[in-house]
Amino acid sequence: MKQPIEPGLITELQPMDNFIRELDAAVETHMDWTRRVMRCAVLHTSPGNDVLDPMAHTLCHFGRWFKSRAPDFENLNARKTQRVIVVHRAMHDSIRSICANVLAGRPGESADLDAFEQTQTELIKLLAEFKTQVLSTAARQDQLTGLPMRFGIEQEYLKFQKLRARHNLLLYVAMIDIDHFKKVNDTYGHPVGDIALRHVADTLKRNLRDNDTLVRFGGEEFLLLMLADSPEESTAASARLINAVRSAPVKISQDTQLTLTVTMGIARATDDEQLGAVIARADRSLYEGKRAGRDRYIYAHG
Ligand code: GH3
Ligand code: MG
Ligand code: MG
Repeated sequence: MKQPIEPGLITELQPMDNFIRELDAAVETHMDWTRRVMRCAVLHTSPGNDVLDPMAHTLCHFGRWFKSRAPDFENLNARKTQRVIVVHRAMHDSIRSICANVLAGRPGESADLDAFEQTQTELIKLLAEFKTQVLSTAARQDQLTGLPMRFGIEQEYLKFQKLRARHNLLLYVAMIDIDHFKKVNDTYGHPVGDIALRHVADTLKRNLRDNDTLVRFGGEEFLLLMLADSPEESTAASARLINAVRSAPVKISQDTQLTLTVTMGIARATDDEQLGAVIARADRSLYEGKRAGRDRYIYAHG
């Protein structure tokens, strides 16, 4: 019998969507704000205290939202994040000056108007660039697990080969496949299967070392690129991943926990070996591991 999914378990699958929605909403409220300022200039009515306040840039909806999301923006591009802060503040300063003049019955300064136009144009351009960056990253990302997909893995592999040669390291390619995953779908349904798959991906991610790269290779299969100083270091890292998945059951309803395991086939890439060839060797070890009883790692010979 299929078990019900606990409410809330499949929410927040797409945090990037929220980010884009919030970004669009922030730009939209900024445009509303500009319209209010326009009315002030034309009709000589007060645009409101939040526009005239010397700290207006911290009071407006956009300023507050941007501050709350600053770590996300910093991650995307620290230099542009700083630029948004500077430009946004300069825009508020110029608009305050324009409104103060208008309300006092004086003509506005053209320098203020120039500053407003330039800063507003730059702000909108910066935000559009952030949006493009987020969308293009999301397009290369698997929506279920948040992991990169296999496209681009060739370039990543070449980068790893260069690092291996430069630092005199060993490069390993691992294929990781969830054990008996079809049974999870058959027993609990596909949506629970999705939760379990995401859980395994999260567990693997949490247990990666700094320079490892994990991608969703397809279905319930992951590919890992791993650099190590020695075969022992690589073995320890593989054991850690296998144990981590086995030791982290996933809660799929109020009173049901599911223990999942993975099998890992690993091949050490020789100098200048093509990625396809290393993957084929890792794959053979993976199936050897499956035949030997699963929940284990096996290194290809050679
Ligand atoms: P083995 O231990 O030999 O790997 O057995 P298995 O059942 O994991 O292997 P099999 O290849 O027979 O089944 C894989 C299953 O994974 C079948 C497929 O429906 C399921 N699967 C692949 N991608 C997804 C996904 O994104 N979500 C869900 N829920 N299931 C998926
Ligand atoms: Mg499987
Ligand atoms: Mg599989």
